[in-house]
Amino acid sequence: MKILLVDDTESNIDILLELLSSEHEISVAMDGQTALEYVRNEQPDIILLDVMMPQMDGWEVIRRLKAEQNYREIPIIFITSKEQVEDEIHGFELGAVDYITKPFVPVIVKSRVNTHLELKRQRDILANLSMIDGLTGISNRRRFDEALHKEWTRGARSNFPVSLILMDIDFFKPYNDNYGHPAGDECLRKVGQALAREIQRAPDLVARYGGEEFVSLLPETDHQGAQIVAEKLRTIVERLAIPHAHSRAADHVTLSLGMVTAFPSRDQSPLILVQGADELLYQSKQAGRNRLTCRNMIVS
Ligand code: GH3
Ligand code: MG
Ligand code: MG
Repeated sequence: MKILLVDDTESNIDILLELLSSEHEISVAMDGQTALEYVRNEQPDIILLDVMMPQMDGWEVIRRLKAEQNYREIPIIFITSKEQVEDEIHGFELGAVDYITKPFVPVIVKSRVNTHLELKRQRDILANLSMIDGLTGISNRRRFDEALHKEWTRGARSNFPVSLILMDIDFFKPYNDNYGHPAGDECLRKVGQALAREIQRAPDLVARYGGEEFVSLLPETDHQGAQIVAEKLRTIVERLAIPHAHSRAADHVTLSLGMVTAFPSRDQSPLILVQGADELLYQSKQAGRNRLTCRNMIVS
């Protein structure tokens, strides 16, 4: 796991490096500002933080990290020569998970660090599980909502477009009614898995939006590129060739899609993407289903 070591004294760094680097990936920052920059770029699993440092001290570093949603959850252990009980209390009040005074006993530091890393690992596993849809095994609505807000903000900052595809299985109610609910579930699994196999590039995401609806978020993707992806998604579901004798769109399971592209703006909610895609999905349904309708949105 990734440990960030923040200390302005080289001898301390050397001891901790020797102690921990065989089991973990360690990075070092020798002042508070560098530490904050590192956290922004790398998201460490734990931070070992000195208190007394020139310019920005450890108290200030932890205050800034706890003030930001994205970094609040990173566990922080103080390792410091400030050994007064009041200092220790202050450290815990600021949100540290542990407080170790110098001179420290290396074996004890190692045990405590490993305990907190194990807790972090378990927490990460649970957080990941809570973002997976139980039926299809792909990402769920929660992960999508999170990614949507994150990518919208990132897009606004870096000025790149974001595309969103909303997909809905055609005549799925008659599918359930005729083949039974378990078969309906199996169909959802196959469709979800097929979509996820197609969307694998790093910032891209495909998720179950709810019921028989799926959603794909394509950051840094322009309208033309996203159109190609959306058409591919429609095609791969057709190619699954899941028989559907009660669909009026085809003799197999098909998708209707709505897709929009926009340049994110801080003044707008990303929900306008979902709303826009939903309107176009409705148009696809009206026009006969098993098709894509898309639009380049202007966000002002
Ligand atoms: P349209 O082509 O207009 O989309 O028609 P539709 O029949 O697909 O749409 P409708 O919204 O009427 O029906 C959706 C169906 O999806 C109804 C619901 O029972 C079924 N469904 C939703 N979630 C699940 C699920 O988890 N498992 C199964 N088997 N069926 C589900
Ligand atoms: Mg639906
Ligand atoms: Mg449907």
